[in-house]
Amino acid sequence: MSHEGFKLAQTILEMSNQNATKGEDGTYYPRTSAVSRCPRDMTMHRYGEPWSDPPQGMWGSQFRFDLGYDCEDRVVAALKASGIDVQCEQMAVQATTRGGLKVLGHMDGIVVVPNEYSLGGKWYVMDVKSAGPYMYRRVYDEHVSKPKHEHMKQIGLYAESVIVDSKYPDLKNVKVSDLEVDGYEYGGGLVIYVAIDRPTKGYGDKKIEFPKMHICQFDIDVEEVELYLDVFDQVEESFKNSEVPGIPHPKHESIWGGIRCSPRWCNRYSVCQGDVEPKNPKLKEALHG
Ligand code: SF4
Repeated sequence: MSHEGFKLAQTILEMSNQNATKGEDGTYYPRTSAVSRCPRDMTMHRYGEPWSDPPQGMWGSQFRFDLGYDCEDRVVAALKASGIDVQCEQMAVQATTRGGLKVLGHMDGIVVVPNEYSLGGKWYVMDVKSAGPYMYRRVYDEHVSKPKHEHMKQIGLYAESVIVDSKYPDLKNVKVSDLEVDGYEYGGGLVIYVAIDRPTKGYGDKKIEFPKMHICQFDIDVEEVELYLDVFDQVEESFKNSEVPGIPHPKHESIWGGIRCSPRWCNRYSVCQGDVEPKNPKLKEALHG
């Protein structure tokens, strides 16, 4: 029989999950952080379809999200304590798709790295990512900078967006990558990865410890960024034409090579797979013709 402490923890997780998820994923709008999301899920969200597979309390999804959020503040504090300037924190920016849609984002900030440091003499568009063991092992490399593609897309979009934040009236409609930082050149994107767990590789005597933080710099390809935005037009077009995009190819990055297609990771899994009927009549018509 389960002991009392176990049951108390389940109650807390359950209640915290109910509070955190009662609004589901809110009303759909194009947002930068969703650029790598599954277009089929996004389109169902655009129709206003509720979740068929809400997250279970035991997963603690909101706790994990909050840990990532807290991590950003701590990283920014650590950067500043190291003499690295951080500006434009949580600044609102907006990109425009080729179809004319506005895509809103809030960037973590820009970092200005002093000359005497590695990557010094430049400023970068920065985003902090808290990484579980699997992601951290994939991005960690002492010799090659290999950020995750979806993080490059998100930062690339911030860099090519214009500033719309009322806290920065003097910078209104200035493109982020056109910002001028006295004495520093623009250096592209920077992803700062922080390992949520103790970062290691291997087992037993062969176990290797990795540093807790890893930084990946990359150049931003302006033409590619324009293409990244197409997903938002695709969602809007599908909605207007009473259609839904098909299930992406199993290797497509938006479904993590197929892993995302499960009720553990996709909140509309059962509707997508046809296991339950959509609640939204327009989506029902779109799916069944
Ligand atoms: S189950 Fe997979 S393909 Fe379907 S909506 Fe979810 S992530 Fe997309």
